[in-house]
Amino acid sequence: MPSIEPATDADVATLEEQLGRPPRGIVGIAYRCPSGEPGVVATLPRLPDGTPFPTTYYLTCPRIVAAVSTLESQGVMAAMTERLEQDADLAARHRAAHEAYLTDRAALGDVPEISGISAGGMPTRVKCLHVLVGHALAAGPGVNPLGDEALALIGDTCPAVPPARDREEEAR
Ligand SMILES: [Zn+2]
Repeated sequence: MPSIEPATDADVATLEEQLGRPPRGIVGIAYRCPSGEPGVVATLPRLPDGTPFPTTYYLTCPRIVAAVSTLESQGVMAAMTERLEQDADLAARHRAAHEAYLTDRAALGDVPEISGISAGGMPTRVKCLHVLVGHALAAGPGVNPLGDEALALIGDTCPAVPPARDREEEAR
């Protein structure tokens, strides 16, 4: 289980801005960007309203979200899924990432509706690269191989300059 920091009031405000809605079911911050802002929020497997929520590690950094969306639009997921069908070692590591995801989630609560179901297409496919990157950032290198790969592809997309500057640009 990766270390998860409690979310401060400032974190909650930033998450609301990043998500465009009040965050629900927050466990804590599973990854902070170099600026110190939340990048991945760990979320309860059952939201306060009772809805099962499989995406335990939800990627929130707008810069990384955008870079990953670009990768998705370039067809990276189809290429990765094809490699999973051909590369037994990669397939085994992707499956191990799925198991690690489920183990982490089980520590946060038992939700029968999503038992055995992780997220992002794991264990056999890649359906959402944001999920794999969120997991890779939360868990650190070596746990989610395709999330690690995606991070290597996007490089240093979130430097330590205050993200407030991006938001000012957007507001213009
Ligand atoms: Zn970031």
